[in-house]
Amino acid sequence: MDADILIIGSGPAGIQAAIHASRRKVSVAVAGKPAASAAAGTEMDNYFGTGRVSGDRLIAEGISQAESTGAVFLGQNVISSARAGDSFRFVLEDGTEVVSKAVVIATGISRRKLGIPGEKELFGKGVSYCAVCDCNFYKGRRAVIVGNESEAAVSAEMMTGYASETSWVAWDMQANPVLVSKAEAAGVRFYGSKPKAILGDAKVEALELEDGTAIPTDGVFIELGAKSAADIAMDLDVMPEMDDTIKVGADCATGVPGVFACGDVTGRPWQVAKAVGQGCVAGTNAANYVKGER
Ligand SMILES: Cc1cc2nc3c(=O)[nH]c(=O)nc-3n(C[C@H](O)[C@H](O)[C@H](O)COP(=O)(O)OP(=O)(O)OC[C@H]3O[C@@H](n4cnc5c(N)ncnc54)[C@H](O)[C@@H]3O)c2cc1C
Repeated sequence: MDADILIIGSGPAGIQAAIHASRRKVSVAVAGKPAASAAAGTEMDNYFGTGRVSGDRLIAEGISQAESTGAVFLGQNVISSARAGDSFRFVLEDGTEVVSKAVVIATGISRRKLGIPGEKELFGKGVSYCAVCDCNFYKGRRAVIVGNESEAAVSAEMMTGYASETSWVAWDMQANPVLVSKAEAAGVRFYGSKPKAILGDAKVEALELEDGTAIPTDGVFIELGAKSAADIAMDLDVMPEMDDTIKVGADCATGVPGVFACGDVTGRPWQVAKAVGQGCVAGTNAANYVKGER
């Protein structure tokens, strides 16, 4: 599908960007899962004018407002992104391709740690958070991918092109079934129990699961959540900061024409008020960019 603007993220920042952009009469598509927003399931009492309010209510009403002005919510994560001349090209979990003239990155902050024994101690000694970055080091070695989302499925399938043996641990499967089937067809061995500890002294030797299984491995790739903002940014030629945030100016523009960012992904404070404020700016300026008015 074609859209003037693709907004990546269905949290407060992305939804506010969608409301402001679609009112400028440009076509707006919004990727991402509202239930994966940091605001989902929370109660807040420091947001202007609402008193105590649930994050779920804000999100649901915000989506209705955006839809009423024509924004289309796709409900799926972006799994790959690229620049294509003056446009941007994205692939969603179900294989849908979206081509846009501008993009707003509103993916929030990633909380990618498992928080189990061995994770911190063996980081860089077999524990990695980026299969795409480190797969080449695992040629002919054993690898385990850990994660419940489509990003883990994509990483597992990709890793079969490098590792001698690829396993995938997912205990609360949320990945797209088509991607799961592709991983299975590529020979990935599946485990359905939660990780308990990463074992090894000087380097990773095994991943222990809560059901007592120990998977012997040389590498554990923790791929929790969706494709990270840093990965998306780099694919679009935007260099993320060392802490994976995306630096923007007061106009929410990045250094790359047509690429904007807003919300938690741009750094602290991690608050809804700041997310929607930047969402307004990013959505408005993305629409202005598409219309040639800036
Ligand atoms: C427990 C808790 C309590 C909180 N309490 C408060 C409070 O009281 N007051 C307050 O102001 N703030 C509070 N916050 C913070 C607030 O929720 C965040 O600041 C706010 O949700 C940030 O909005 P955002 O849109 O930038 O990111 P998020 O709300 O995190 O939304 C990110 C979106 O990006 C999507 N996404 C990520 N990767 C991809 C991808 N590859 N493709 C497509 N989509 C993707 C996700 O699915 C999600 O829809 C709280 C947060 C937590 C966790």
